Amino acid sequence: MTPALPFSFRLSPFTYIKVPFAFYLLAFTLITACSPKGPYAVTNKIYKKEADSVFGVMQREQPVALTDSTGAAIPSSWVGTVNLNARKPNYVIIHFTAQDSAAQTLKTFTVSSTQVSAHYVIGRDGHVYHMLNDYLRAWQAGVSRWGSITDMNSCSLGIELDNNGSEPFAPAQINSLLALLAQLKKAYNIPTSNFIGHQDIAPGRKPDPGPYFPWHVLAQHGFGYWSDYILELAPDNFDPYTALHLMGYDTRNPTAAVVAFKRHFVQTDYTPQLTQLDLNVLYNVYKKY
Ligand SMILES: [Zn+2]
Repeated sequence: MTPALPFSFRLSPFTYIKVPFAFYLLAFTLITACSPKGPYAVTNKIYKKEADSVFGVMQREQPVALTDSTGAAIPSSWVGTVNLNARKPNYVIIHFTAQDSAAQTLKTFTVSSTQVSAHYVIGRDGHVYHMLNDYLRAWQAGVSRWGSITDMNSCSLGIELDNNGSEPFAPAQINSLLALLAQLKKAYNIPTSNFIGHQDIAPGRKPDPGPYFPWHVLAQHGFGYWSDYILELAPDNFDPYTALHLMGYDTRNPTAAVVAFKRHFVQTDYTPQLTQLDLNVLYNVYKKY
């Protein structure tokens, strides 16, 4: 019996050869990966739908509905102003992914069950993946606090670096990060102090980007602060917890705040104790905030 195409190739009028299933799988994968829409065509479509629904909310023109203490409606009406623009991000939060590849992280951020996302993912090779419009809210900070801000997701951009958490960051990755930060700082006028890590805003809960992250290199370029080379001795009456609080750390758990601070600004040691060196670093750094 002559098998029907496309499950065979007709090599000659008399010869047919069976094509293994793996070949079709490979061909399908190549066609999908190389198609103009790419492998993320489906999730890009979902992104567009979600973004459209956010824009729909922003376009509502309804007056606020208020009632007084007796329950009676307070008169209100809609009068559109002519002076407006979009709210801008004012912080940048840096993370490590704690995963093994950028592809794994892209997958994590393109399935809804994880409920996490970031504006940018940077691969070890320096490739920058932009996953969310900067004006939209990513789900990257989680339960966090910096100063009196308790909704960091609403005011920050999240950048995830492909790094497993226990290795140095790749130079190409840091180069791309510096270029991205320069663009973001300029575009949104983000203050130098507002480039911080996930560990800083969620002490005791998050360890990233950890002690391998080169904050000193970022500070040289105007992204976040780093201690001076020569340190003054912290005065006897220096209160480290007030200093940490003034910087922005949530000091309700003082030990966690100290560890978070040391993972960022000391790095060589991040035990919960404050040594004289740690106090000097803290005294030096907190005055910059
Ligand atoms: Zn994180």
